[in-house]
Amino acid sequence: MDVRAPKGTVDMLPEVASAWEHMTRTAQTLFARYGYEPIYTPMFEHTEVFERGIGEATDIVSKEMYTFEDKGGRMITLRPEGTASVVRSALEHNLVQQGSSAKLYYAGPMFRYERPQKGRQRQFWQIGIECLGAADPSVDAEVITVLWRFFETIGIPAASMRLLINSMGDEHCRPAYRDKVAAHIREHSAGLCEECNRRADTNPLRAFDCKNPACATIMATAPLLRDELCDECAAHYAAVKVRLDMLGIPYIEEPKLVRGLDYYTRTVFEVQADAGLGSQNAIGGGGRYDRLFEEYGGKPTPGLGFALGFERTLLCMEAAGVQVPALPRSQVYVARVSDDVAEEVFGITQALRDAGVAAEMDHQSRSLKSQFKQADRLGAQFVVICGPEELACGEATVRNMGTKEESRVAVADLSAALRDLLV
Ligand code: AMP
Repeated sequence: MDVRAPKGTVDMLPEVASAWEHMTRTAQTLFARYGYEPIYTPMFEHTEVFERGIGEATDIVSKEMYTFEDKGGRMITLRPEGTASVVRSALEHNLVQQGSSAKLYYAGPMFRYERPQKGRQRQFWQIGIECLGAADPSVDAEVITVLWRFFETIGIPAASMRLLINSMGDEHCRPAYRDKVAAHIREHSAGLCEECNRRADTNPLRAFDCKNPACATIMATAPLLRDELCDECAAHYAAVKVRLDMLGIPYIEEPKLVRGLDYYTRTVFEVQADAGLGSQNAIGGGGRYDRLFEEYGGKPTPGLGFALGFERTLLCMEAAGVQVPALPRSQVYVARVSDDVAEEVFGITQALRDAGVAAEMDHQSRSLKSQFKQADRLGAQFVVICGPEELACGEATVRNMGTKEESRVAVADLSAALRDLLV
């Protein structure tokens, strides 16, 4: 059997898993300040949820989804992102009642069949928030602020990140703009790649994202949506910027930022960073999706959110020298002098744990010397040395691994004494 994890996936070993937990804890604390509550949706959905939500012409839906027929004949897809599922769930459970809003966050793995490279995996982890039910530009500014503050709080220097923002318009101004971009593509069809030519019919705005230099040159002269926004979209965009200015959030307007999902309307944004990353430099992004509920047959319900990627954030943290706080390890090691006290040692260790002390013992018949080495490796601050004579008197020796001081403590008092010593 091949014991390697499938291509594009990695095992999160304890050090990386601890970083993930640190990141989720940081997110939970920050998001709670803004009123976000957790939601966990299934890791797979009916394929239609993503086809309708993300859009059939997008790269994600047309090329990257893990889709299969289950044993009951249903078409199922492993979620490639979180928003579509959260909106589907909000509809199913009527989470956004008339006039109210729902603020939700999630964290977990996503799946996309992409070519693996630095910062790009087939299973990757995202943390995201969704604010459903609110159309006001203050929410756009708030959501962008949460994303920016997250990266700052986790330790990525503001100077090494950039926040790009744009407005994608809405159903009033975007169709005419799409037609203009499609016309631009057709006009320059000879100089553009096959994919961009195809996009003229399917998804013209995606041509802005093409990495081919010739396409980029041609798309640089394409009309910009910024100049074509309807009055309402222009006012909304201006109001978002005023609020970001108020908070001193340093954004850059990028009129070619279109992002890869069809459901966006009006505000879109992306945070990019260079240090630690290769060409996959987007660490988080999102936008408004005021039409998504209707796409699923719901009532018109505005919404917006973001998702940030764990793997890329971690690469940036490493580049910035951020130390992830170590999880509490064993505080106390219970060592046995000889095998005949094995049962007592087991009982003492268990009692310490029940009393809230992180305790470890030997399970491999190590010599006393190796048990001390093991205690050192685990970072134990105290070793409880259990010898038959001491135990016969109802006592054990507690050794402070820092000062090397030793004292005899009654076994019955061990938990309380160690709890006091550890404070
Ligand atoms: P998206 O859902 O495409 O807007 O992505 C949001 C964030 O998820 C990105 O900014 C990345 O940090 C992360 N991300 C997206 N795709 C991948 C991938 N294949 N591997 C690792 N991270 C990813």
